[in-house]
This record gives sequence, structure tokens and C-alpha cells, in this order.
Amino acid sequence: MDHFLYKDGQLHAEDVPIAEIAASVGTPFYCYSSATLLRHYGLFNDALSWGPHLVCYAMKAASNLAIVKLLGDAGAGMDVVSGGEYARAKAAGVPGDRIVFSGVGKTPDEMRMALEGGIRQFNVESEPELRMLSDIAASMGVTAPITLRVNPDVDAGTHEKIATGRKGDKFGIPISRARDIYREAADLPGLQVIGIDVHIGSQLTDLEPYRAAYRKVAELTEALRADGHSIDRLDLGGGLGIPYETSNRQPPLPSDYGQLVREELEHLGCEIEIEPGRLIAGNAGIMVSKVLFVKEGEDRDFLILDGAMNDLIRPAMYGARHEIVPAREALPGTEKQPYDVVGPVCESGDTFAKGRDLPPLCPGDLVAFRSAGAYGAVMSSEYNSRPMVPEVLVQGDHVAVIRPRPSYEEMIGRDTIPPWL
Ligand SMILES: *Cc1c(COP(=O)(O)O)cnc(C)c1O
Repeated sequence: MDHFLYKDGQLHAEDVPIAEIAASVGTPFYCYSSATLLRHYGLFNDALSWGPHLVCYAMKAASNLAIVKLLGDAGAGMDVVSGGEYARAKAAGVPGDRIVFSGVGKTPDEMRMALEGGIRQFNVESEPELRMLSDIAASMGVTAPITLRVNPDVDAGTHEKIATGRKGDKFGIPISRARDIYREAADLPGLQVIGIDVHIGSQLTDLEPYRAAYRKVAELTEALRADGHSIDRLDLGGGLGIPYETSNRQPPLPSDYGQLVREELEHLGCEIEIEPGRLIAGNAGIMVSKVLFVKEGEDRDFLILDGAMNDLIRPAMYGARHEIVPAREALPGTEKQPYDVVGPVCESGDTFAKGRDLPPLCPGDLVAFRSAGAYGAVMSSEYNSRPMVPEVLVQGDHVAVIRPRPSYEEMIGRDTIPPWL
């Protein structure tokens, strides 16, 4: 469920007509609904309310400061994967003890930054990282709380580029070697082992891979406890999928997921952490674009938009399908026609959809890409020197630009010409 609905024939973000925002901000732009963001966070919180838990929003899905503050103020923790995300979380007022640091390639500077600013835990992904973190923490006279991310060798059944829990994937340590590596971790002076971490992939539409992975985590918890480690926290990652098309089979709900976690892990008495990103932000955001031209094609017409692959790369990168809807609701009985929906960038890959059935559209009409809130604006670029796409946040009838579109001067002004040139 989201808060982008038609009222009086006009698409609204909560109480604000999209066309009104477009008139003041220009197109393309991203628009997020606060109510949807908070609702999704709340669903996860409720799903785990049977025990101690923390929902750590995976910031990489949508990391605008305003979004991080909205969720952080509601009590969310943050899952960060870089020093930049850590800095954003802190700037949004999230306390260090609610920030977890994930990622296969943390740098010494990032480790120091988090140890100085406060951290809930590092999710460590390799033995060399373990040793480096211990050295850095020891040299600072502190101990770093850690989990080890284990790779359970489970196929999440998702897109190749976002599957992370199979044994050939770059993530985590092989679960078969976990006991040895935990022993090593316990012996290192700068570390305190507190739990286990696992994250098997993104856009999962089936709960069974989670069940398989969490069973292995439960077995490992018992084995590690028998080895003398205190395992008090289980970080179960993120990855729950969202319905990108309303016609599709609906992915499991957070409540189903919470029930599964309870069935598999409650008996261990651990604090549960989860790291959802897509499910919190995905359907809480749309990308709005304007029709520039309708061009007659060989088989069907091209709908040429002012938004492009640099603004929303998911179709080009993952073959993702986003529902596209007109800002002005089509009258009942309007016949749809197939369009190839494309952007202005000079690549054939700049195609959002082929043969998509839409009501007839004209230059100047606005369309919205639904489910664009996660891995949308954060993956945008200035390819073709198209200024970075702006972001807007709505709450009830409040609207705010939370990242403005840079002017050409601002965009170009970041480059410098060396004095010898
Ligand atoms: C990307 C990622 C997440 C979030 O995944 P979603 O599919 O957006 O829920 C959580 N944890 C880790 C370690 C990640 O890399």
C-alpha cells in the first residue's frame, strides 16, 4: 500500500497534486511520501514485536538526509555501507548505537570514523578485515563490537546482480569455516564478538530461502555457543521484495516474514536485527517525468520523456519493470495503446519499457514511474551532463524540495581547470 492515489482525476502524493509539484520543481523529479515510509517501517517493527529487535533501514536504498531523519526520528536504526552513509546517518541525528556498518570493503578511515563516532556493530565480511579492524580498534584503545557475516550458500532465487548468499558470491565468510574464524576473532585484542550476520540478497519474493538460511544460522548459533562464544544478536539482513507490478504474484508481507523469523529463531533468545531497504523506500517513491515528443516508430510510437536512464537506471541495469501511470487519470473506457517509453540519452539502453500499454499521451503530459523510491535517486548520475535529478518529500499537505536540481553553473562549477592548461 502506498499514498500515491488519484483524487479528482489527478495523481496525488498524499494531499498534494503531482502536477502542482511539477509546476514548481520542473521535471524530472523524485517524490517520496512520508506516510508510506513510516508505514513500511512500522510494519517491520510490528512484525518483530514478539521480542527484542531493531529495524535498521538499509540506507543505500534511498539516503537523502530528510528520509534518514524521518525514519531515524521514528526510532529506526541504520545499516550503512560506507563512510558517506555513516556521515549522513550522524548528520540526520541517528545515534551511533543505532548504526550498523556492513560491506565487503571497509577502509581503515571508515573503521576509525565509526569507532570514533560510535557504532552498534561492524558486520565483518572477511578474515583480513577482522585483523585490520582489531588492529585499528586496539590502537585507539577501544574494542569494536562485531558480528561475522556468514554466507549460508542459499540461492535467494532473485536477479543475478542482487543475489548475495551463494558460495561463489563475494559476500561474507563460508558458513562451513565459521567456527574457525569466530575462534580467531575471539582471540583478537580489539574485537568483541556479539553475534552473527547474514544477508542473502534483494527483491526476494519467496520466504523459503530465508527459512533455509535462518535454519543454518540457528545451527551455527548453537555451535558457537558450545564453543564458548556469547551470541546475543542475530542480524538477519534485508531483501524482502516488493510488488513492482500490481498484476504480479504478491511477495510475502513483513508480518509473514516476522512469523518465519519467530518460528526459526525465537528459541535462541537473541536480539533480532533486520536491514530492510527496498521494502521501506521502494513504494514510497515515484519518479515523475514529462512527455517531450510522441514519435512515430516502425511498429509503434515512441514516447520520448525528459527523464532518462541517468535518473532511473533500474530498467537498463536490471531489466526492471516499473509501472508507468499518467498524472491525469484516464477516463473510464479509454483505449490503451502500446508505446516504447524512452529517454533522451544517447544510448539504446535508455529505454524504460517496450510495447507498454498506456492511455494515449501528448507532449506536456506528466507520467509517474511507480515503485521508484528504492535504488532510484541514489543510483542517478549526471551522464550526458543532465543535472542531478531533484528529490521532493511530501507529508500530508506539506511539500519540500529535499535535494534541489543544480543549475548548469553549479554542475559545471564542480570541475576545475588546472592552472597549466
Ligand atoms: C542491500 C543490503 C540490504 C538491503 O536490501 P533490500 O533488498 O533493499 O532490503 C541489507 N543488508 C545488506 C548487507 C545489504 O547489502
